[in-house]
Amino acid sequence: MPNGATLAGATAWARVIKLCMATFEFDNTYARDLPGFYVPWKPAAVPAPRPLFFNRELALELGLDADALAGDAGAAIFAGNSVPEGAEPLAQAYAGHQFGGFSPQLGDGRALLLGEVIDRQGQRRDIAFKGSGRTPFARGGDGKAAVGPMLREVVLGEAMHALGIPTTRALAVVTTGEPVYREQVLPGAVLTRVAASHLRVGTFEFYAARGDLERLRRLADYAIARHDPQLVGTADRHLGLLRAVARRQAALVAQWMNVGFIHGVMNTDNTTISGETIDYGPCAFLEAYDPTTVFSSIDHGGRYAFANQPLVARWNLARLAETLLPLVAGCDDEAALKRALPRVVEVIDAFGALYGEALLRGQRAKLGLAHAAPADDAPDAALADAWLALLQREAVDHTLAWRRLADAAAGDEAPLRALFGDAAALQAWLARWRARCSADDVAGGDRSSAPRPERMRGVNPYVIARNHRVEEALVAASQAGDLAPFERLLDAVRRPFAATPAQAPYAEPAPADVTAAYRTFCGT
Ligand code: AMP
Ligand code: MG
Repeated sequence: MPNGATLAGATAWARVIKLCMATFEFDNTYARDLPGFYVPWKPAAVPAPRPLFFNRELALELGLDADALAGDAGAAIFAGNSVPEGAEPLAQAYAGHQFGGFSPQLGDGRALLLGEVIDRQGQRRDIAFKGSGRTPFARGGDGKAAVGPMLREVVLGEAMHALGIPTTRALAVVTTGEPVYREQVLPGAVLTRVAASHLRVGTFEFYAARGDLERLRRLADYAIARHDPQLVGTADRHLGLLRAVARRQAALVAQWMNVGFIHGVMNTDNTTISGETIDYGPCAFLEAYDPTTVFSSIDHGGRYAFANQPLVARWNLARLAETLLPLVAGCDDEAALKRALPRVVEVIDAFGALYGEALLRGQRAKLGLAHAAPADDAPDAALADAWLALLQREAVDHTLAWRRLADAAAGDEAPLRALFGDAAALQAWLARWRARCSADDVAGGDRSSAPRPERMRGVNPYVIARNHRVEEALVAASQAGDLAPFERLLDAVRRPFAATPAQAPYAEPAPADVTAAYRTFCGT
């Protein structure tokens, strides 16, 4: 006869088993269609899984049973201790250019793709672990992740999502009950990450570097089926894929630039084919506007400085283009490659214009302009450039300046003026901007659109994930087990456009000396 404790234990296990069987409706195309592109692998079991974070809204979007997954039973799954039915965990192979140097083999060293689900919108989404133990790609790494960096993935991913920027998102974070050895001993964690896919530029580089044309073609066709299905079966589909990635990356980086986001480690293995932001390691938001800003402790040369991001995106696109060239050519015969080269180069050359258009579209909205300037007028790009130059010269907080420009549009100029020392320069620029707004109103005719201040407040955030707030939240969670600051911050960044009293503390920049000394570290 079992005693009460065993009975309770058995009931808990029964709950976990039931949950494993019923939670995810996996349909794993990567495992099925691309054998040889990965190593099937199991997550390492951990001693004491405990839930830290669960993304209820995302769970519902994925059609999951949120109530069932939120508690301890869910933690056993999200720690990798109970692999849900239908999951086919695997470590993906990929290569990558890191800070310009090529590593022919990186791969999922501490990550596993569990499988794919179709969300409520009919979109296929990857469910993956990060920090789930060593894999054959781990090299010297321990395969683990710490609480702080995994919660950083949560905060930054949710902040970007709320800003309308394509991003991977965190579904759950659990603590493992295990120490992780870094410069200090830290509590271990596993992140469950949701992505449109984990295909990277580096995935293509892996097969290209090995001259494996057959696998390269299968990979490209898989990517096309997944992200650009309209190209399936077309003759020029591989060039089409390159164009589509160019378009998505141009749009993504333009959005980063318009909110002042610095990714920090734009290696080709962190550059997605889907156009989602991935890998929130040494990333951070700008405060005072300075295009040369670098926060990452490992970016000594400033390769991934704020202003370099569009150039790096183009460079990464060129690396993808090199891998696709033999597919565009139809073979890797030298004469054929030479003939195909101009068509590929044309796509890379067009990146600057694609990016410029995406940036300007965003800037126009931020400036409160509904229409492009007439052809005989000074271009809007010049107006935006002059504004940014002003912010740079006066070291003004990027986010606050844009937001208070909306107040100026509503007739309240004082909050904006308070940010600037040089009142005359600001006034001169404002006069230009007001003239442009008037012209825009005349061009107008769009009666369905909201008043200008309202439109501007819908695109210029009041709250971003400020560095000192992120740091404060992660330190409290990691060192003191206190999740309250993390939860409050998460709440704030999930409503970036709402200017309520509760949001106010999250809208304040860090003291300048804090920002000057701020360093971010690769997500370990
Ligand atoms: P990242 O800097 O996170 O983009 O990772 C770059 C490469 O290092 C990838 O191949 C990762 O899988 C691998 N990696 C990073 N941290 C670890 C770790 N703690 N254990 C094993 N592999 C790791
Ligand atoms: Mg990475």
